Amino acid sequence: MGPVLNGLIKLQSVENRLRAAKAQLTRCRRNVVIQENHVRSLQNALEAKKEEIQLTRIQCDRLELELKSRDEQISKLRASLNVAKTNKEYAAVLTQLNTTKADNSKIETQILELLKDVETDEAECVEMQRQIEEQKQTLEKTRRETELSASKYEAELEKIQAEWDKVAETLSEESLGVFKRVAETYDGQAVVEIEQQEGKAGAYSCGGCFMGVTAECVNLLMTRDEIIRCPNCTRIVVLGGSEA
Ligand SMILES: [Zn+2]
Repeated sequence: MGPVLNGLIKLQSVENRLRAAKAQLTRCRRNVVIQENHVRSLQNALEAKKEEIQLTRIQCDRLELELKSRDEQISKLRASLNVAKTNKEYAAVLTQLNTTKADNSKIETQILELLKDVETDEAECVEMQRQIEEQKQTLEKTRRETELSASKYEAELEKIQAEWDKVAETLSEESLGVFKRVAETYDGQAVVEIEQQEGKAGAYSCGGCFMGVTAECVNLLMTRDEIIRCPNCTRIVVLGGSEA
């Protein structure tokens, strides 16, 4: 195998490391994004809970106002009870008074229940606030750690990129162009080995798409230092067992 194919194989090996380092950098930064989202969703939940409390308080105020006007009604009914002229009138006012009283006690219970809800919700808010603070601290810690590892990964990436550039320089513009295009299509996998099909002498397949490759292809690779591409997937094929 000549310098063209050897160069491509070497470039593929550096390309793999370059992609792995880039993925590592993305993964390390993704933790920060995930935790930021977590803090945001906790904050949204807290806002929603606060709004709920606000609405419950409005409802309470409305009921208290109603209760006040009904209490006034009760005072009036009591006054009419004292001035009732007949037994029938007295009984009618008394019934009204008792009904109003019963209704008032229902409203009072309702208010108490709503206030209890507010109390529970407020306790939940305190707990949510605590969680937010805790999560924020975790986020800050992750951020600091991420910055540290990210700069390490970036330095590593720079080194690998320099290596890549050096290998790329040894290739012709045309070869490099083919490599880049195929790598773009196959997520970095531009150069693949030809594999001998199991149990079949003289039968070969592309290590990328696993479709058959002719023996003629293999012969060409053995005798010439040229780019040969899989007729099916267009990846650059090389002979197996090649060392970069
Ligand atoms: Zn193929």
